[in-house]
Amino acid sequence: MIVDVITIFPGMFTPVIDESIIKRARAKGLLKINLHDLRSFTDDPHKKIDAPAYGGGGMVFKPEPVFNAVEKILGYKAYPKAKTDKNKRIVLLSPQGKRLNQQLLKKFLCYERLILIAPRYEGVDERVVKHLVDEEISIGDYVLSGAELAAMVLIDSIARLIPGVVSDRDSIKNESFEGNLLDYPAYTRPEDFRGLKVPEILLSGNHAGIEKWRKEKAREATKKKRPDLLKT
Ligand code: SAM
Repeated sequence: MIVDVITIFPGMFTPVIDESIIKRARAKGLLKINLHDLRSFTDDPHKKIDAPAYGGGGMVFKPEPVFNAVEKILGYKAYPKAKTDKNKRIVLLSPQGKRLNQQLLKKFLCYERLILIAPRYEGVDERVVKHLVDEEISIGDYVLSGAELAAMVLIDSIARLIPGVVSDRDSIKNESFEGNLLDYPAYTRPEDFRGLKVPEILLSGNHAGIEKWRKEKAREATKKKRPDLLKT
């Protein structure tokens, strides 16, 4: 998968994409991330990418550099719509978007290329929202100062679902939100920590018994922490 990020702070992304799972996914050629500095797509001689909102308010990303950046990536004019490309998805990170969850992430896996627009300030000119973007995505009902962290959340959570990125596929299958249950509790060494013991069953070697215990505990945890999931 290719992910293009349009941002005024490409430097915020590099520490994250150069570590751990995302780094490995890139090294294996399973994920390519292109960071595009929005300022290099403006026609403004002073490289200004924002302007005050008409009618009053804060600064807003202008439509021209955003359209320019997306069209450069696409390789064709996006408005008036010249083509539709089912393999690409243009996503705007926005608190007004659809709330991200595991099901939505899986839909994104179908695309070969995601173009993420990551605004700051008061957001982006509404013409971008209406005429350029395929989908608006929110990472939760709260407001961040900018979309960079939201874009990184999206990249990280998609990366681990790309086949071949996480070596133990089973660990993903059993994760929280894969079904309607949270993950089961995990224990590791030592067997006895200050008198707190690991449940006997996990040390028994009885795989069927362990499986049954884990299912029960996952159900208990879900009932206690996220009863809403059991209704779905
Ligand atoms: N004025 C906007 C509003 O109330 O809807 C919020 C602007 S916010 C300060 C700046 C940018 O951060 C937003 O345009 C959006 O791109 C990003 N952002 C903030 N919260 C977000 C969230 N929960 N999910 C995704 N992006 C978010």
